[in-house]
Amino acid sequence: MPHTSTRTANFEESVIRRMTRVAMEQGAINLSQGFPDFDPPEALTRALAETAAKGPHQYAVTWGAANFRAALAEKQRHYMGIPIDPDKHVTVVCGSTEAMMAAMMSVVNPGDKVVVFSPFYENYGADAILSGAEPVYVPLEPPDFGFDRDRLRAAFAQGAKALILCNPSNPTGKVFSREELLSIAGLSEEFDTWVITDEVYEHIVYAPAEHTYFASLPGMAERTISCSSLSKTYSITGWRLGYTIANEKTTDIIRKVHDFLTVGAAAPLQEAAVCALGFPQRYYDELLAAYTRKRDLFLRTLDEAGLGYTRPAGAYYVLVDIGEFDRTDDNRFCEWLAQEVKVAAVPGSSFFREPVRNLIRFHFAKKEETLLAAGERLKGLRSIWAARGYKT
Ligand code: GLN
Repeated sequence: MPHTSTRTANFEESVIRRMTRVAMEQGAINLSQGFPDFDPPEALTRALAETAAKGPHQYAVTWGAANFRAALAEKQRHYMGIPIDPDKHVTVVCGSTEAMMAAMMSVVNPGDKVVVFSPFYENYGADAILSGAEPVYVPLEPPDFGFDRDRLRAAFAQGAKALILCNPSNPTGKVFSREELLSIAGLSEEFDTWVITDEVYEHIVYAPAEHTYFASLPGMAERTISCSSLSKTYSITGWRLGYTIANEKTTDIIRKVHDFLTVGAAAPLQEAAVCALGFPQRYYDELLAAYTRKRDLFLRTLDEAGLGYTRPAGAYYVLVDIGEFDRTDDNRFCEWLAQEVKVAAVPGSSFFREPVRNLIRFHFAKKEETLLAAGERLKGLRSIWAARGYKT
């Protein structure tokens, strides 16, 4: 057989997706891969049915259907507080995953350094490999996940071309404070770097935390490629509707990269989703209230199960400390948990560059009944562990 590419030689299967498979095999409640088990808003599914009947069913404009981009630009202008021209600044892509990849391919040359906070969402590592970039990791220190400004500065000083910023953060639930973001902004100006954001949890930020869009900071819109999607905000992760917002010149390049990668996001889904982009503020308030209830319910469960965790300020994940059970192998612990307790989590080590083995990630984007059922099982964890232990 001819050789396959060296670029992909060190690729590993996504641990998040693997844990979903393990959950299915074991009949475990899947709190690993983060996606809702509840329906999207009815207005959206109704619009989808109408679109099935009346179309469009052929390609949309490569960089996004005009009505979708117009509605998106209006909504994001409102929340981000910056001018956004749908014809100049917006590219609609296949999920934020493509948004990040297209952004990286547009601004990074092979061999360039890209600053990534660790722990990080696993795709950023693959994005770096595929675009030939070399990641420079800066630790977010558990349990609070703050960063050392001098270390960050040293990372920029290595000649960074870009920084990747996931805010609110997956997997930590950290919401970067305005001060932290201003300090990143200062460094990106000083070292003249891009900032590529992943802000898919922009509407899931628990009071009193507040989301600051990086592009809204003074002078930052020019050097920021804001990536996000409709997946989490409207509970439609399978629709794969993502986008980038960037300055006009960069958008022109991102559009070409996107065109050659995927041509376009699904036309009927863009059409159906236009209605969601026009939802009133009440929708976002209710979304947040629902996620706040889910978070509080799940954290109560963890308290009752006697498990330690870092309280998430945003997104729908929580990192739980399993050090008292296993300090050396979180993969093994997650396999055991799925098999014996019938709840699936993601081993924390798949997010960390550092040798952290005592954390696992649960997500709580689930119906309250699912979370309650998972909670009942987790409350039994300690006694199942004591009764059977884990034989290596
Ligand atoms: N963002 C979700 C997670 O971190 C889903 C990732 C994926 O599988 N695309 O679990």
